[in-house]
Amino acid sequence: MISGTNAIGSKSSKQGTKTFKTFNPKENKDTEWTFYEASSNEINEAVALATDAFKAYKDFSGAKKAEFLEAIAEEIEALGDELIDTYCKESGLPDGRARGERGRTMGQLRAFANLLKEGSWVEAVIEKAQPNRAPMPKSDIRKMLFPLGPVVVFGASNFPLAFSTAGGDTASALAAGCPVIVKSHPMHAATGELVSSAIIKAAEKTGMPNGVFSNLNSSGIEVGQQLVKHPKVKAVGFTGSINGGTALYKLANERDEPIPVFAEMGSINPVVLLPSALKNEGDAWATKYASSITMGAGQFCTNPGLVLGLKGTNLDSFINTISEEILKLEPTFMLHPNIYAKYNEGKKELSAQKGITVTADYKKATNPNTAQPSILKVSGADFLANTKLHKEVFGPFSVVVECENTDEMETILNHLEGQLTGTVLGSEEDLAAHAGIIDALQSRVGRILFNGVPTGVEVNSSMVHGGPFPASTDARFTSVGTSAIKRWVRPVSFQDWPNKLLPLALQNENPLKITRLVEGVYTKN
Ligand code: NAP
Repeated sequence: MISGTNAIGSKSSKQGTKTFKTFNPKENKDTEWTFYEASSNEINEAVALATDAFKAYKDFSGAKKAEFLEAIAEEIEALGDELIDTYCKESGLPDGRARGERGRTMGQLRAFANLLKEGSWVEAVIEKAQPNRAPMPKSDIRKMLFPLGPVVVFGASNFPLAFSTAGGDTASALAAGCPVIVKSHPMHAATGELVSSAIIKAAEKTGMPNGVFSNLNSSGIEVGQQLVKHPKVKAVGFTGSINGGTALYKLANERDEPIPVFAEMGSINPVVLLPSALKNEGDAWATKYASSITMGAGQFCTNPGLVLGLKGTNLDSFINTISEEILKLEPTFMLHPNIYAKYNEGKKELSAQKGITVTADYKKATNPNTAQPSILKVSGADFLANTKLHKEVFGPFSVVVECENTDEMETILNHLEGQLTGTVLGSEEDLAAHAGIIDALQSRVGRILFNGVPTGVEVNSSMVHGGPFPASTDARFTSVGTSAIKRWVRPVSFQDWPNKLLPLALQNENPLKITRLVEGVYTKN
């Protein structure tokens, strides 16, 4: 049963007076539930509880935290079809996507549980004492990673499960030993409440301290702002717009004690068509890209929004095919009328820029809130001269740039903002012959792909989902995959500390049997 209340640890709470509803884009009307926006008092309660919970939670063993994460996955599964139906109602996304995303969410939680059980992620490093070293004796110094404290996570609109309440940010922060307060996304607050109930059940079942997780509702920016400014909050995870992410980043840096904000934001994910791809497989790539651009109504942060190719008949043929293919695909529902309206605004604005030719624009009648795909083309010179064309239009939309030559292509890549992904289509010989272009692309992105589509992000230990600003606020970290845990920790050195009082990970006997760097050598001894 959806109650619309906030979860302050295990307590349901509705102290606030402001309420809001979520929206069903398919039926084009509000859903049946009403949500109570978190009050200032509720925010303070959630943070105080998280701060208290941190005292115990930070010292829990990897095995115990792993049990908690695995129990969350089980409880999410136990929500059954109610979760799937609620997700579909609030997002307009189809049943298959909901089930796939639920599987991915449970998989992420289990991946972090496995990381904790193995234990070496704490990066234990040991330099032993040399009391007789001349001219100065050397101290015993040992280092490992420790959790930062309470983390605030902003749920993303476009992934109601995998990047929201129990998504990658929450899973990685809980794994690191940080309590989490979620600022639920107002477009899917009911889905958020169900998942939140699963997390709280799992916390109770596995003996976690009350306040290790809270879920707060809001439909305006004030709750999020108060959370980010709260002195007891130690870090923030965010997925969404460049405006939202940078506003929170600035706010966090203006605090008396600045804190890190790991925001994963917009990206146009450039695709470079090298000569052999255009010559030999142009039509096949055009068809694949028509479906990648429209997947999930284009509401993916890795959506390919920019394609660069060398001007000529092969590129003309690619543009014709992609423009035809994209119009064959039935438009699908966007997440919310606001996102639909923003998509149409962006599409209209870019279509009206100097030098733009609209090569595809879906014109047939559609249901409300379904996104009509579009493809534009422009010359390299006009693209370079107009940075409006470099911005993300969130939806099934892409701009193809006709470059005069490879120098212009390289110049364009060097002028792009930071991106989550960059893709090269071509042969291995093409790669070798266009080293400058590959270098320029690699310097702008967090993930570089060869002969593929950027939509679809594997969750594993080698994934980088991040990139130079504004793809993310800190290109050194990923928000997807087990390395995401590194965002929520800091290193501490222990100097000449008594062995039996050291954390287990640093004791001489290596009781956790983890891999450690001892005197410059990785070992389990
Ligand atoms: P958003 O506007 O960035 O909002 C995300 C979350 O951050 C919401 O919970 C929002 O709170 C909060 N927020 C936004 N600005 C804030 C501020 N200044 N201070 C405090 N909190 C703030 O993103 P969205 O609602 O998910 O979608 C809007 C647009 O963002 C889309 O049309 C799209 O362009 C872009 N987007 C991009 C990606 C991507 O991966 N590239 C993903 C999702 C969205 P409230 O909603 O309560 O105000």
